[in-house]
Amino acid sequence: DRLAALGTMSAGIAHEINNPLTYNLTSIQYVTTELPVLLEDIKRVMPDGDATWSNIEQRAEHLLAALAEAQEGAHRIARIVATMKTFARPLDQRFEVAELPKMLEAAMRICHDQCVQRAKLVADFRQVPRVRCNSGQLGQVFANLLVNAMQAIEPGAPEANEIRVVLDTDAAGKAVVEVRDTGCGMSAQTIREMYDPFFTTKPVGVGTGLGLSISHGIVAAHDGEMTVESEVGKGTSFRIRLPPADATQKEGPGEPAPAASVVTARVLVIDDDENVGRALQRILARHHQVVLLSSAESAVALLDAGALFDVVFCDLMMPGMTGMDFHDWVTKHRPALCKRLVFITGGAVGTRSQEFIERMADQVVEKPFDRSVIAARIAKILESFGAAGKAGC
Ligand code: ADP
Repeated sequence: DRLAALGTMSAGIAHEINNPLTYNLTSIQYVTTELPVLLEDIKRVMPDGDATWSNIEQRAEHLLAALAEAQEGAHRIARIVATMKTFARPLDQRFEVAELPKMLEAAMRICHDQCVQRAKLVADFRQVPRVRCNSGQLGQVFANLLVNAMQAIEPGAPEANEIRVVLDTDAAGKAVVEVRDTGCGMSAQTIREMYDPFFTTKPVGVGTGLGLSISHGIVAAHDGEMTVESEVGKGTSFRIRLPPADATQKEGPGEPAPAASVVTARVLVIDDDENVGRALQRILARHHQVVLLSSAESAVALLDAGALFDVVFCDLMMPGMTGMDFHDWVTKHRPALCKRLVFITGGAVGTRSQEFIERMADQVVEKPFDRSVIAARIAKILESFGAAGKAGC
């Protein structure tokens, strides 16, 4: 119950933060790109050898350094919000059949460098069945367990310590993943509390207390189970059991690679938050013709009047006609435009939007977004409609 309440609250807060964060980030990116261009323009019109130039250049450098810090701060907020959203039902519910050894090797590669000072990292893999999973989420679980194992071992005696990753199949045919460490171990009290959100025994800045509670939720969503054995001063072993993939399951389709070329497109942006709309308009206007509207109702009126667009970015949660209502209208009245819609969302609030986001995952962009994500979406849509993609629907 507590987790469910926390999930609802996290989703709400994440949604509220993501809107301002979006125009915060995109505006910082915009100024960071435009400021050097402006400086070049100023330099061109200044007389050669003008003494004020070096002063201007120096001040601009300070401004760019301050912007870089602001951007780092905004990215940090984005990471915190992304972690909070994991408490709500994970957005990405796509499962595919995957090979556990590959996933574990990837997680071990990430941790390898940090391990060197603390322990030998050993892979002890035996034959395992393939499993049906969301490899991104399960990868997060493995990385969490490895980081915890690593943090349980003091640096300085790598030869005396070991983190062993074991893969095996149990008698029931389930895949078993074990992460064993020779670290500090856990007391019975810590074991009782370790799955509680925000429970941590680590110092501020090292532990968040979210790793195990999130991991536990992800393993449960995979119909798996997670168990632990630990002894203070000896070490800890986390074991995950996962059911084998149904032999008839097909592997999920891969994401097509985004196209790199830039083609001018007619883009409609619909967002009731003017700042988000303007931020999108600003990053698009350099390459595309952009029309900005603050409601889906006005977009319907424009489309009804015969306007043609190559790509439409539409906010999901708007007062009056929502992005989902707009999708219904387009499906009925302008079906050819359906695949050209991209929904922007600060996170699902409520069951309907959650289901919509899951169903339309390929056409959803999460706030805060990066300009490269927006460019890739446009390129992908234009490319999928062939011959530069410019049919206009
Ligand atoms: P965090 O690592 O941020 O503290 P977790 O939810 O991943 O959050 O873990 C919660 C707590 O469980 C840790 O603070 C630590 O006390 C304990 N713990 C988890 N894994 C291990 C381990 N391998 N060895 C010892 N203690 C562990």
